[in-house]
Amino acid sequence: MQDRKDSDSRKLLRRLKDILAAPGDGQHRMDQITHHIADSMGTQVCSIYLFRDAETLELCATEGLRPEAVHKTRLRLGEGLVGRVARTGRFVNTGDAPSEPGFRFMPETGEEVFPSFLGVPIQRVGEKLGVLVVQCSDARQFSEDEIYGLEVVAMVLAEMTELGAFQGSQSDCLPQSHRFPLMFRGTTAQEGAAEGRVWLHEPRVVIANPVGDDPDTERARLHEGMDRLRQRVDSMVAAADMGGEGDHMAVLETYRMFAHSRSWLKRMEENIQLGLSAEAAVEKEQSAARARLEMATDPYLRDRLHDLDDLSNRLLRILTGQGTDTGAQMPDQPILVARNIGPADLLEYGRRLKGVVLEEGSVGSHAAIVARALAIPLVIHAERITSEALNGDPILVDGDQGVVHLRPEDAVAAAFRDKMAMQAEAQSRYADLRTLPATGTCGTTVQLYMNAGLMADLPSLEGSGAEGVGLFRTELQFLVRNHVPRRGELADIYRHVMDRAMGRPVMFRTLDIGSDKVLPYMKPQDEPNPAMGWRAIRVGLDKRGVLRMQLQALIRAAQGRPLHVMFPFIADMTEYEDAYRILMQELARERRLGHQMPTDVRVGAMLETPSMAFAPRKFFEMCDFVSIGGNDLKQFFFAADRENERVRRRYDTMNASFVALLRQIVARCEEARVPLSFCGEDAGRPVEALTFAALGIRRLSMRPASIGPVKHLIRRVSIADLRRLIDEAEGNGLTNLRRPVTEWLARQ
Ligand code: PEP
Ligand code: MG
Repeated sequence: MQDRKDSDSRKLLRRLKDILAAPGDGQHRMDQITHHIADSMGTQVCSIYLFRDAETLELCATEGLRPEAVHKTRLRLGEGLVGRVARTGRFVNTGDAPSEPGFRFMPETGEEVFPSFLGVPIQRVGEKLGVLVVQCSDARQFSEDEIYGLEVVAMVLAEMTELGAFQGSQSDCLPQSHRFPLMFRGTTAQEGAAEGRVWLHEPRVVIANPVGDDPDTERARLHEGMDRLRQRVDSMVAAADMGGEGDHMAVLETYRMFAHSRSWLKRMEENIQLGLSAEAAVEKEQSAARARLEMATDPYLRDRLHDLDDLSNRLLRILTGQGTDTGAQMPDQPILVARNIGPADLLEYGRRLKGVVLEEGSVGSHAAIVARALAIPLVIHAERITSEALNGDPILVDGDQGVVHLRPEDAVAAAFRDKMAMQAEAQSRYADLRTLPATGTCGTTVQLYMNAGLMADLPSLEGSGAEGVGLFRTELQFLVRNHVPRRGELADIYRHVMDRAMGRPVMFRTLDIGSDKVLPYMKPQDEPNPAMGWRAIRVGLDKRGVLRMQLQALIRAAQGRPLHVMFPFIADMTEYEDAYRILMQELARERRLGHQMPTDVRVGAMLETPSMAFAPRKFFEMCDFVSIGGNDLKQFFFAADRENERVRRRYDTMNASFVALLRQIVARCEEARVPLSFCGEDAGRPVEALTFAALGIRRLSMRPASIGPVKHLIRRVSIADLRRLIDEAEGNGLTNLRRPVTEWLARQ
């Protein structure tokens, strides 16, 4: 009995394959297909509904319903039983369709005489294409085997759609997937706007032969593919084992578990038995897992389904022989679209990219750091964009709003271009200011420096008009490598940075790893609260070898030039004293070894914890300069995680309590006559920057792209007047200064 069913299914799939191979019009193919499915399953009706746009399904072919209804009957997503199948991605099986919740009567189809209904989604790895329905006149439920069989057929239909089998039909409403405009609402990780064409970091796998000719051959292919997959996973585990990687290791162990999973293999073998090819069998299970992923809310389950998805992709690439390099040409104005991407890969693309859109990622991720360095707009959390976008699709990235338009309508594209033109105009205005000082109308001058950390940042030194680098995040050079850089390699990098700075000062901050910045080759610490854990100078003082090596590289790079070193995350004066002492020892050692010395060494601390605003006076006296790391300082002042989208925006930098803390720091630095700067993200926001200047902070270090807007504003106002306004607002007991400051600015 089972054997007969299997061979019926295979016969049907072979017929579908023949239909696909024969020349013909798309509509004719669909008509034939519905006829054969109804015939094979012994049902009176078989219908294909396809998406006309993202929200509308259309009856495109039928055997058994009234032919006049074809291309006339339409349902919205979620409407009727067909709409329900499309929305949930799950089958509906009923012997009494009219009594099902949500049933919609469609008189034009004449379906009232067919109470039994089985509908399954036509979908391709999470991408919804339509619904396949069979109906009967006898009131009965369909069996599990029938459901499964119809799902297999739907899978082949989905692949045929992808291969263009239904194109060129008499009606242009046939499969519309990858055609209609879509908007994705994500999160901003780097501002800016870009228009271009999609470039998929990992192109989709195309399955040219969804139907298998011989189950034994396909099974053997599947087993062979699985063997290769297991070998790859085993060697990944072995490599990670050597590096002693923690979290990464846990993921790989899950991969290994799936790669050896009997139930996964069994389900794929069953698919093959019904007539699918090995790769189509893998993809059918992947689609089912994706559908479950969409419904799952439990984070653990979601992670595991993601792992299975990733592993399925690897298996598909093995079976189809399609690597990530498909030979496709990168389009002009490429906009990278990916699930996620590592910093090294992103750097390799470099400035060729006009923008980046990711499904995952976080504001503080390494990819975001690199995108900022490259000054390209980045939108993260654009869910499902990798299944919707095709290489070469037109795409607009609005990094300011965190919105992406894929295949945009003309009107949207036109409005977007207007916005870009306005931004370009503003940029050219800023370019004119490049060589002018940031001096307010009252005569007070603020020095504007830029933040950097990668070679990719350096061209901005010239372009932005920055007076120097106020924060060089040295950890980025460690983050984009898969090994600890050697001293010589580091010295070369630092030398190159100083060369490019051409005499402008560069404040090198020693390694700030830990917290969100975990090096791929270092053992992650299992800390409940990494931002407050073993990070930055705490690691440096405990693992002195790395700190000393870095200091030696800096001293050697400076050779005959001034050197600025800054220690991160000092929370207690003794930490600064210890770090200072180590630097002095290294200087003495380098001198002993006969290396040429820096002409001058200036040592500073980053003030990133509220404790240091109240440090002993001696601390400030020991510093040649102090720089406020506002990102961390604010996170600890308000106890609000800077990486947590929910709480991050809750507390305002212009909050009077935070401003009072800044005043305290300014006063402490003035008392000890030590120069003070501000180098967190807020320094690049014009209103905040102006407020800091009014509070007495005379050096601001920011992203290069922010220098123009900040300078433009400073040059138009009196910093002294703003100071008076802030004093007055504080005197009046205002809890937040944003409103009086912005209103004052509007009046200027
Ligand atoms: C800061 O905390 O403000 C800072 C500049 O350092 P980072 O963002 O690298 O932690
Ligand atoms: Mg910091």
